[in-house]
Order: sequence, then structure tokens, then C-alpha cells
Amino acid sequence: MTYIAYVLVVIAVFFAMEWVAWATHRYIMHGLLWFLHRDHHQPHEGKLEKNDWFAIIFSIPSIGSFLLGKLWSNPWLYCIGLGILLYGIAYFFVHDIIVHQRVRWFTRTRSRYVKQLRWAHKMHHKHLGKENGESFGFLFVEKKYRDKIERDEQLQQKNTGK
Ligand SMILES: [Zn+2]
Ligand SMILES: [Zn+2]
Repeated sequence: MTYIAYVLVVIAVFFAMEWVAWATHRYIMHGLLWFLHRDHHQPHEGKLEKNDWFAIIFSIPSIGSFLLGKLWSNPWLYCIGLGILLYGIAYFFVHDIIVHQRVRWFTRTRSRYVKQLRWAHKMHHKHLGKENGESFGFLFVEKKYRDKIERDEQLQQKNTGK
């Protein structure tokens, strides 16, 4: 039974991280640490961005949870560390590969979720500055962006139907 509880904690942490990432992006990356996030919103040379520091910054709570879990022999801390780590991997996969295509995989996907993700994040990048942003989430797509993709699909169907 305990194992089920471990898995549930990992899943809960994973989903909670979407909210943590949203809040961090909204208030910290577009706030105090904008100087690290700015080059992700503006054209720049080279493949690496200052924004990549966030991958390292976000790995600290995960590594910290694993270390403390070992130190205090507390399996729950491992679950928390694992939830954060899995979110970090999903985030990298979605944001850096699927949306920004830093590695050119899945370029021809027809998945509706992928279209929604790309559109929602495109709307985030429409804003080049720190202020007045929108769509700060990553894995969860807000309804208005989902609706837009649905409308597009319906239009497309109508046009090809004729
Ligand atoms: Zn941003
Ligand atoms: Zn981005």
C-alpha cells in the first residue's frame, strides 16, 4: 500500500510543479530574474541562452530533496525529488524540443495537444518585454488557446470538405 502512496505523491508533486513553474515564470522570471530570462524573449546569437540557467536553478530543489531523503532516510523526500525531476524532464521535452525545436524532432506532428502547446507558448513569446505577458504555463494549456486551435481545425475541415 505504501508504494501506491509513493506513486501518488510523485504524481501530485509533478502537477503541483506546473503551478510552481507558472508562478516562477510569471513573478520571478518576468520579475527579479528577468535579466536571465530576457534573451529567451528576444533574438540572440548562439544556441545557448542565459535562460538555460533556470534548468540548473530548478534542479536544485530536486537534488536537495534526494540528498535530504538520503540523509534523513526519508522515502517521501525521494518522491518529492522524483516528482520535480520528472517535471523538469517533461518541461525540457515540451518547451525546448516540441515548442522551440532546439532539437528537430516531432516537426510534423498532427497532435492537437502539440498544436495547442505551440500556440499558447507562441502567444507568450509575442511579448518581447518583461511586462504585460500572458500564458505563463507550460504543460497545461488555458481554455482560450485550446478553443482557438479547435476553431482552426473546424475551419480547416470546412475548407477541405468543399
Ligand atoms: Zn517568459
Ligand atoms: Zn519559450
